[in-house]
Amino acid sequence: MTTFTSEDLNNALAGAEQQGDDNKDYKEAYLADAIRFKMKRDNKRFWAGDNISEYVTEEMKHKLIDEATEAFELVLDRLLIDRENDPNSKGTARRLAKMYFNEIMSGRYDPSPNATAFPNDTQDRYEGLLVVRSELRSMCSHHHQPVTGVAYIGIIAANKLIGLSKYTRIAQWCARRGTLQEELANDIAREIERATGAKDLGVYIQATHGCCENRGIMAHSSLTQTTVLKGAFKDDQGTKKEFFDNIKLQQEFAPR
Ligand SMILES: [Zn+2]
Repeated sequence: MTTFTSEDLNNALAGAEQQGDDNKDYKEAYLADAIRFKMKRDNKRFWAGDNISEYVTEEMKHKLIDEATEAFELVLDRLLIDRENDPNSKGTARRLAKMYFNEIMSGRYDPSPNATAFPNDTQDRYEGLLVVRSELRSMCSHHHQPVTGVAYIGIIAANKLIGLSKYTRIAQWCARRGTLQEELANDIAREIERATGAKDLGVYIQATHGCCENRGIMAHSSLTQTTVLKGAFKDDQGTKKEFFDNIKLQQEFAPR
C-alpha cells in the first residue's frame, strides 16, 4: 500500500489551486452563473420556492442540466462513491440533474399553468362553496426530502371560474419546488386568487415530511397541517365550518 505523505497532500492541494485558477475563465462561462448574475442585477429573488421561469427558457434547460450534472458528479466524488465502476451510480449525476429540473423542482422553471377562465356572472351564477382536493408532492428546502400530502382548496366563486383540474395543476406547480409547508399554503392561496379572482378562499394542507420520517426525529406517522383563510372563510363562522365539514366529507370519500 502506498503511503500518502503530508508532502503529497500539499502538492495535491497546490495542484488543485493551480487548476482552479486556470479554470477561472471557464467557470465564469457557466450559464447558471450568467443567469444568477442577471437575477441579482434585477433584484429578482431566486429562493428555492421562487418561480424563475422568466429567466430560464426550455432551450437553456438542456445546458443547465449539463452543468448541474457536472456539479452532481463532484458531489458523488466528494461522497467517495465510485461512479466510474459502480453500475448503479454511473448515470446518477445526470439522473439527479434531470430530476431536479424536470420533476421535483419543475415549478421553479416552468411558467404558471394556463387556466382559461369561464364567466360566472349570469343570473343563475354558481354561488355555493367549491372545494377541490389536490394531491401534492413537494420537497423541503432544508433537507431536499419529500413532502407528500393533500391540499383542499375552497373558494366562493367570483365572476369567473376555472376548469376543475386547474386547481390541482396550480397547486402542483406551487408544490414542485423547495418549500416550507407554511409557505406552500400561502403560495397556493395567492395563485388561486390570481387565477379565479375569488377573494373568499381557504387552503388546508396536510402532509408528511421526509425530513421528520427518514432522519432527525424519525417520526414516521407525524402529520403537519397548515391553513390559510381569506375573506368569508376567515370572517364568517358558517363558511369556515362548511369548508372544514366538506374536507371531512372529502376524507371519508378518499381516505389517505
Ligand atoms: Zn427538512
